[in-house]
Amino acid sequence: MNIICTMCLNGCEIEVNENKNTVGAMCSRGERFAISEFENPTIMLTTTVKTSFSALPVLPVKTDKCVPKDKLNDIMKIIDTIIVTTPLKVGEVVYENIYDDINLISTMDMTRRIK
Ligand code: SF4
Repeated sequence: MNIICTMCLNGCEIEVNENKNTVGAMCSRGERFAISEFENPTIMLTTTVKTSFSALPVLPVKTDKCVPKDKLNDIMKIIDTIIVTTPLKVGEVVYENIYDDINLISTMDMTRRIK
């Protein structure tokens, strides 16, 4: 499996085999990242949720930690049900514990758009 390391801007392409040997990482941090991604692929989920405000009908959000890729469909089903009814600032929780102690948080200051 080939994995692009996202731990720094070098973006090393790292090959991991079934014995968890790696080739291509320029540092041990990248090796650990590649093995972790091989064992349990994760992603920082960024998306939008609906709001009740016509001036800002959707709010950009992200998870505050990486989520397992195989749980994305389950998490998106929850996200599809969310309607934000209170103006939130950057970093405020939109949905607590959306999966395994991971929160969905706002990435926009709604108070600047909604008076
Ligand atoms: S392997 Fe090391 S140097 Fe390469 S992208 Fe990852 S963190 Fe950066």
